[in-house]
Amino acid sequence: MHKLIAISIFLFSYCLLAQTDQRIYEIMDKVSAERIKNDVTTLANFGTRHTLSDTISNTRGIGAARRWIKSEFDKISNNCNNCLEMSFQKDLVKKDENDRIPKDVWVVNVMAIQRGSKYPDRYIIMSGDIDSRVSDANNYISDSPGANDNASGMAGTIEAARVLSHYKFENSIVYLGLSGEEQGLFGGQGLVKSSKEKGWDIIGIFNNDMIGNIKGVDGIISNTDFRIFSEPVPPTETERERNMRRFYGGEVDGISRQLARYVHKNVKTYMPEMNPMMIYRLDRFGRGGHHRPFNDAGYAGIRIMEAHENYTQQHQDIRVENGIAYGDVLEHVNFEYAKKLTAVNAINLASLAWAPPAPKEVKIGGIVEPSAKFQWSKVPGAVGYKIYWRDTTSPTWDHSRFVGDVSEFTLEGVVLDNFFFGVSAVSKDGFESVVVFPNAILR
Ligand SMILES: [Zn+2]
Repeated sequence: MHKLIAISIFLFSYCLLAQTDQRIYEIMDKVSAERIKNDVTTLANFGTRHTLSDTISNTRGIGAARRWIKSEFDKISNNCNNCLEMSFQKDLVKKDENDRIPKDVWVVNVMAIQRGSKYPDRYIIMSGDIDSRVSDANNYISDSPGANDNASGMAGTIEAARVLSHYKFENSIVYLGLSGEEQGLFGGQGLVKSSKEKGWDIIGIFNNDMIGNIKGVDGIISNTDFRIFSEPVPPTETERERNMRRFYGGEVDGISRQLARYVHKNVKTYMPEMNPMMIYRLDRFGRGGHHRPFNDAGYAGIRIMEAHENYTQQHQDIRVENGIAYGDVLEHVNFEYAKKLTAVNAINLASLAWAPPAPKEVKIGGIVEPSAKFQWSKVPGAVGYKIYWRDTTSPTWDHSRFVGDVSEFTLEGVVLDNFFFGVSAVSKDGFESVVVFPNAILR
């Protein structure tokens, strides 16, 4: 009898743990709007952070800005027993590479790595951009505070490092300041190239680009709406994979889309007051961002940003015209909102950094049978696996079943044709990998 009660209590608390983890609430609550405000202010006060701007001055230009970002990471590291590894990653971009590179320029990224204890070479990345611009993309002289675009994303990344550096994770977290965004996504391209050379296993990137504006050009004001952009399938897929998709599905189930769903679900669980909007596209219509170089190389990556943009406050010379105050200045940034989106990043970085790797191979079968069958490759550190499924028209994984530490399972009475399926790996504390859409057929 006592044994039964003990087992019941264990199962009950296990279920609770699997639902939510107190540390995630703690992380969420530790993010500070005040510190984000200070950092956005500091970044905006470098006058301009244009990629081609001055690099010698200590008060103006992108050189001063990147050295300051590095010094902030240094400070954070000093407060966590040197838990961060700082570096500059740079590439020389030659004049006329495109029409936004009027002279040779070193594109320099700033990086801090919080090394994982169990999987030091698996990385989850949060990024913001260092550089800014005004109306003329090649004007590197005029004041270009870039308070929202993208000091907000940069400050959020620094703040996430401040909060998460007080925890220990199994996977490595990268806090990344990218440069050259406005000139043609050069910083991201350089970073991807160097991480490929180093053989990084990248779980994914959260590219934060404009996370501070709540007043849209559409007249909507919302401090809870935000967007998660993800492309449907990787551009690196093979002809064979594309053909397979016609018969087995997966048109809206690429790796970046699964990362988007992961973030969406975590936000719905831990920050139910927020309204995450999954946008089923790489980026805004015809526009770009720094997750794209990662997607181009076959890595999962999403863009996290405000829902309601204001174009009079992006890429604009500071001026008043017809009564409208143009310019990306401090006054337009809502720091409480930037704090919320920073928390969105922080809780998802933590969840993934505490999660086991996702199963590499997931096979699905059950053609002309009444049940769906699965088989997957086990991963170290998982106490079990979760099978997810959803209606074919649903954007979210609405049904799931935890199936324990096995490598195959049959969902009795669930007909293969009527749902989409996926499998995740689960840690002992209930942290989950990203869901893997089946990538092989079980015969
Ligand atoms: Zn921009």
